[in-house]
Amino acid sequence: MAVTPVENEMFAGTSVEKCYQCGKCTAGCPLADQMDVTPNQLFRLVQLGEVEKAARCGAIWMCVSCFTCTGRCPQSVECVEIIDALREYAAEHGCAPPDLQRVILFQKAFLDNVRRNGRINELELIQQFKLQGFLKDLSLPLLMKDALLAPKLMQRGKFHLTSEKAKDRALVQRIFARCAEPEKPAATTGGTH
Ligand code: SF4
Ligand code: SF4
Repeated sequence: MAVTPVENEMFAGTSVEKCYQCGKCTAGCPLADQMDVTPNQLFRLVQLGEVEKAARCGAIWMCVSCFTCTGRCPQSVECVEIIDALREYAAEHGCAPPDLQRVILFQKAFLDNVRRNGRINELELIQQFKLQGFLKDLSLPLLMKDALLAPKLMQRGKFHLTSEKAKDRALVQRIFARCAEPEKPAATTGGTH
């Protein structure tokens, strides 16, 4: 769905219209050369109202949220917020590239795990991710991929079969509920100019 540029003056709570395409975000991005479009090109698409086109780019799933782009932007554009919003859009509208659908599955399984346990239970996370991936594409090789790594990771203390749940899981539930609430518009001060 394309929306007009005017509607995108504010996107994901940041003033994307302030971007003047200097490219400093892209110059500092450690993953830019792996992306199908660069970060500044993504922001230009959003400025032009091409939100769906931006959400279909593989670049948004390559981003590791290191915040380098945000920190370098001379216009204080919240670059990572934009990319996060594009990911949400892509997940909601099913427009992520087919070869990146598993990234979305992993992110959903990760959040679901934190929501239930208050922290990550690694075994449960892997089971959920692998099962959902298999139900989606019925790929046995992908189901078994990395299985042989588990013993090595366990030996090195990098993978645990059990984990304690957070004590106050109700608090975690409340945090998730709060995050799911729609953002309220910022209050106006009513001052004179
Ligand atoms: S650094 Fe900021 S102003 Fe420059 S291209 Fe990136 S988002 Fe736009
Ligand atoms: S947050 Fe993402 S887009 Fe920004 S510099 Fe890091 S990897 Fe690149």
